[in-house]
Amino acid sequence: MIEINEQQIRLQTDPATKQAAIELVGNLLVTSGNITTQYVTSMQQREEVANTFLGNGIAIPHGLNENRDQIARTGIAVLQVPAGVEWNPGETARLIVGIAAKSDEHIEVLRRLTRVLGDEQQVTLLSNTTNPHDIIEALTGERPAETPLLQTSSDYEQFFDAVIQNKTGLHARPAAMFVNIAKRYKADIQIRNGQRMGNGKRLLSLLQLGIEHGTRVRVSAQGVDATDALKALQEAIKQGLGDEEEPARPTSIQKNTAPIWTPQTVEQTISGVAAAPGIAIGPIQHYKRQTIHVADQTGDPIAEGEQFQSALDASQHDLHELHKNVGARSGAGQAAIFEAHGEFLNDAGLIQDTIALIYEGHSAAWSWQSAIEERVDQLKQLKDPVLAGRAADLNDVGQRVLQHLTGKHPTITPANNTDTPAILIADDLAPSDTALLDPRNVLGFCTAGGGPTSHTAIIARSLGIPAIVGAGQEILSISQGQSSILDGSTGKLYLQPGAADIQQARILQEQALQQQEIERKLRFAPATTTDQQRIEVVANIGNVADAQKAAEAGAEGVGLLRTEFLFLGRDSAPDEDEQFEVYRDIIQAMQQQPIIIRTLDIGGDKEVAYLNLPKEANPFLGIRGVRLCFEHPELFIPQLRAIYRAAAYGPVSIMFPMIATLEDWEKASVIAEQVRQELDAPVVPMGIMVEVPSAVMLAEHLAKQVAFFSIGTNDLTQYTLAMDRGHPQLARQADSVHPAVLAMIARTVEAANKEGKWVGVCGGLASDTLGASILAGMGVKELSVSIPSVATIKAHIRASSLTDMQEIARKALQCRNAAEVRAL
Ligand code: PEP
Ligand code: MG
Repeated sequence: MIEINEQQIRLQTDPATKQAAIELVGNLLVTSGNITTQYVTSMQQREEVANTFLGNGIAIPHGLNENRDQIARTGIAVLQVPAGVEWNPGETARLIVGIAAKSDEHIEVLRRLTRVLGDEQQVTLLSNTTNPHDIIEALTGERPAETPLLQTSSDYEQFFDAVIQNKTGLHARPAAMFVNIAKRYKADIQIRNGQRMGNGKRLLSLLQLGIEHGTRVRVSAQGVDATDALKALQEAIKQGLGDEEEPARPTSIQKNTAPIWTPQTVEQTISGVAAAPGIAIGPIQHYKRQTIHVADQTGDPIAEGEQFQSALDASQHDLHELHKNVGARSGAGQAAIFEAHGEFLNDAGLIQDTIALIYEGHSAAWSWQSAIEERVDQLKQLKDPVLAGRAADLNDVGQRVLQHLTGKHPTITPANNTDTPAILIADDLAPSDTALLDPRNVLGFCTAGGGPTSHTAIIARSLGIPAIVGAGQEILSISQGQSSILDGSTGKLYLQPGAADIQQARILQEQALQQQEIERKLRFAPATTTDQQRIEVVANIGNVADAQKAAEAGAEGVGLLRTEFLFLGRDSAPDEDEQFEVYRDIIQAMQQQPIIIRTLDIGGDKEVAYLNLPKEANPFLGIRGVRLCFEHPELFIPQLRAIYRAAAYGPVSIMFPMIATLEDWEKASVIAEQVRQELDAPVVPMGIMVEVPSAVMLAEHLAKQVAFFSIGTNDLTQYTLAMDRGHPQLARQADSVHPAVLAMIARTVEAANKEGKWVGVCGGLASDTLGASILAGMGVKELSVSIPSVATIKAHIRASSLTDMQEIARKALQCRNAAEVRAL
């Protein structure tokens, strides 16, 4: 009988292609010692000459007969792909059974498979099960005892088992989320992978368990709130522990992807892993970061301990700043790693070990260095390359603290990235190095280590820098200044290419740029659908600089000026004159295009320290937006005065946030009208944000009185679904395309249409291409989007027909959940 154990089964995988699936299943056989890597190539080659799709979702890739000498031991491995992968056109495989048979020992397995094949129900079960034993039983006829995760004496009494679904296992970000949730409870929490046990409240302890995608773990807890803790953790694991799909790459980068291309005359070709698409042409520049290494020294434990504490605080501060800056530059997803870095600094084990060494009389720097090195070595030994890659993150944090402890800064060559545009070669880049690269001078980069899912690669993609990782140590000896072409789409670095190749690469680069350029050039053209319907695309801004950027980005006006931004990050509120000047400058920067000024929307998550507002238990449901303005006329009246004075300079509308009742609107509009009369200012259109469900339900009444509605889908989503928009676990589910939210929007649009009033949308949904289609299809006339999205949304509308968008909107409203809408 052929043997198969849990290690040869990989559940819940999602390979993008048949080739990737064969690679994965082949690697399982390599790891279990059944075959050499050449046999995996042979498995791929067989697909070109024979069909290995058995039918009913099952495929049995195996190598060519002539390569049987590459099989050490007969064996099988199984890849489960619940969502399926296209094997041949029209044939989708969900269970991929990789076979390496020295002779015909595998016939028994095939016989069993043929039986399974006829039983559709069983195939469905096996394609979705989270218990590998189901698969072993189907293939061998014997069910292994459920031993590995049976309760052992070291598990706490209360527990649950779960399969980790995260694509790259429990890597730093999801592990940090797990720890954060665990820490909210008093109970002791453990997580077990096979025989290895980790402390659920310590990030490093969790990472060291090497939990890969598809691993079954047991989480157990003990203490007063153990039940609640387990419930929260189980739900969080189910929801993916905050792991977002890496956002779709910005169109500009996608378009940068070059077609497969091979140069004709090069001196050397280096193959690595494709990490960020695009072609770069330029000289090689070695990038070196001299790491800080300290020798052992004796020290006074009290003074060293204090130094250590300040270094930790300073490092936390750095990481906080880095998180903020990268978040603003590349988005929250890319910045999240720096939060996980912060979590390393809270790791009790790491701190304890450092302190223990300090109290033995060693210096703080040496003690910290030893504690970090020990853990880095442990992480490097993990089988899973993604988790092993977290060693780079830990090293990065380790160096940061060492910098503060020693006052030394690591020498970076070339300083300031590079003075002349070049392709950087490095052993590995720390995520914080990558985040600070200047895309103007860094044409591309190639690292010896690292993997495509490293944060370095993710950040490179968000910066639009073509990149290759994992190219091997040989790249470190490439001579400086050599001419090269880097193809980030295929993972190839070509050295000393011929003139014809450089020319060809430039043509490809040029074509990609032209595509981006078309979008950029047409940014000032109106967004008119293929069936001649005009949709206005305007921008959301917060200050004068934004207004200048918005005008340059092709915005046809401002759909939302978040005036509260003028009040944040300072010591006192701007007075009437200061506000007047800002509003006037914004109007002038937008060159007579229409501007909607929203009155102060403070409260909720926007806190203003100097106003000394009382803390509220539920700030999003408290004195927020217009409610706060009613309570604070000393803020509201000067703002309205400033807006009316500025209205003399261009087309302005006033909009009130957080309107929940008719009385809110009446009160706000009466106050504004009084201010207008006092100033003898011109009448301007007054409208409201529709972002509270009660405003939707009252839309028919409100539509009779207001000049316009602007739907704030960010808040409307959080209030409709009762999911805090900033909540780390819920924010991902709070998707504005949820049909419940779409129904709210449809109702609002209908009420406005009945009264002949126009509706815009200024929430995040308008910046999403699918969202924009649905909104335009529902009859929304104006999309107010983030500045970088202006050209993209315009291009998207121009490429769509209103009839098609209406059809998408109709279908979306009939869906049952956000996933179904996204599938449209
Ligand atoms: C909204 O709620 O959708 C909106 C645009 O306003 P803000 O994000 O400022 O709350
Ligand atoms: Mg809002």
